Amino acid sequence: DAAYESLPAWRATPLEKRRALMQRFLEHFKAMRQAIIDLEAAELGAPIAFGANAHCDYQFVRIQSYIDEVEKVVFEEPFEHSTVIREPVGVVGCITPWNYPIGQIVQKVIPALLTGNTVVLKPSQSTPLTACLMMEAFRLADFPKGVVNLVSGRGSRAGAELALNPKVAMISFTGSTAVGVSLSQQALKTVKRISLELGGKSPCVWLPDLPDYRAAVKPLFNSIFLNSGQTCTALSRLIVPKARLAEVEKLLLDHVKDYPVGDPFDPKILIGPMASRQQFETVKSYIELGVTEGARLLAGSIPEEPGAHEKGWFIQPTIFTNVKNDMRIAREEIFGPVLCVIAYDTVDEAVAIANDTPYGLNAMVVGPKAEAQAVARRINAGNVYINDAPRDVTAPFGGYGASGIGREGGRYGLMEFTQLKAVFDHSTY
Ligand code: NAD
Repeated sequence: DAAYESLPAWRATPLEKRRALMQRFLEHFKAMRQAIIDLEAAELGAPIAFGANAHCDYQFVRIQSYIDEVEKVVFEEPFEHSTVIREPVGVVGCITPWNYPIGQIVQKVIPALLTGNTVVLKPSQSTPLTACLMMEAFRLADFPKGVVNLVSGRGSRAGAELALNPKVAMISFTGSTAVGVSLSQQALKTVKRISLELGGKSPCVWLPDLPDYRAAVKPLFNSIFLNSGQTCTALSRLIVPKARLAEVEKLLLDHVKDYPVGDPFDPKILIGPMASRQQFETVKSYIELGVTEGARLLAGSIPEEPGAHEKGWFIQPTIFTNVKNDMRIAREEIFGPVLCVIAYDTVDEAVAIANDTPYGLNAMVVGPKAEAQAVARRINAGNVYINDAPRDVTAPFGGYGASGIGREGGRYGLMEFTQLKAVFDHSTY
């Protein structure tokens, strides 16, 4: 109700005023940096060095990027016999997961507000605390009452209410594909706009013509092992030439020890515990399944439950080799630090394996640049990285197939929260 009532005044607020408020919010939020890092270590188990970068500073960069990019959105465009206007959608219900507690909120709440929508946010019940900090920063920045609202609680109650409530015009959801599908069915009863960022099983293809793969290990391991593998874009399938399998296995084994697991408050630690006991159990059962399916454990082992006096649901970085793409460990999202190595004979086969998945969120192609670029165009995914290329924060992010509907980030992410109106204004009087 608060979001619905504050909508007319907020959508009528000039863009410059909305941008200025958001800039003020960002300054207050940045001042909470240390509290954010500590809370992400506490509520998620994110090691402080990784948390400072991925859960904190990178999110500040993203927020600033939205504030800058919104100036480039064309809100009014003359057509041949009309004017096309981009308007806010209305009240947006934002439902977010636990794995990047701030990041997923930033991708929704910031562009929705900048484009004139009001927001009700329901963060994950597992990691709701940094969302409260963010709300405090909105309050300190003097955002008008009712424009941005937080409701915490379980998905099946608080989330379902957002999906069903007729005052909500749009659902922007990030989470598992199963929940995204059922939530959308509910939201369609009142024909809401739906935007979904879902799971992935992303491939990393190493092409045969690269003489040395050494530089390719770090971007791969950072993707699949950091955040304890609890990353939607994690490169979880490594696809390598069969003729070089032994060389690849040695390289992976040599580098896996560079990823120490332990207390997230220890600055030397790169991998913290799993976010919850439930996630630990899920990943453990997949590691057991991999062994049963006939894959070979190259690194890691079946994780042990912590003893009575130990704390933390730790899982060592785990690498399976001899994986076939039809095994369940290669098809289903494990959401843990588990890498599957799959061998191919020809590049065409490598592309076919990469694309043989219901998902299509992320990919990486490693090889001589021109060849890698050509292969990147053949991969069915919303994002493809070439070698060690960094992310571009202004580029669109989102998935093909079961990885979702819609885009986040930059101008395309802002436009996701708008709808088009054509005004036929070439009248004769
Ligand atoms: P989840 O689907 O269990 O929960 C996500 C959110 O939905 C939570 O806030 C939860 O409370 C809510 N929810 C659960 N059931 C609901 C229901 N019936 N109605 C309404 N809301 C409901 O996902 P999770 O376990 O929190 O997160 C992990 C998943 O998120 C993984 O599959 C991961 O790939 C995905 N993810 C995707 C992206 C992306 O950008 N594509 C980013 C991060 C995570």
